[in-house]
Amino acid sequence: MKTQPKFVAYEATENEYALFDSHEAATAWLLASDGYDGISEETENGDSYIAQITHRTRLEVTDRKENYHEHGDDCDLQECDLQEWPYEDKFNYVGKVKFRDVRD
Ligand SMILES: [Zn+2]
Repeated sequence: MKTQPKFVAYEATENEYALFDSHEAATAWLLASDGYDGISEETENGDSYIAQITHRTRLEVTDRKENYHEHGDDCDLQECDLQEWPYEDKFNYVGKVKFRDVRD
């Protein structure tokens, strides 16, 4: 699996953020990013910051369309009581959003 950035730096003066693999890279970007002439009030006030990413979203699949019956030519629609996929046809699976801990 591709490694994902571990840090996010937020620069309050320009309202921008960027992702980084290392704290050092985030620090360098943040120090270079204050576009203000001099040191901005936001920087002075501590509004810009570096945060470590601790959790990321993941999908937990709870059910799949393939687990259900699809009416076909063999079905007598009056008689067939096999359960059909209860969600829109465009969805092949459903699930819940969970978070995984990505701290080392
Ligand atoms: Zn059927």
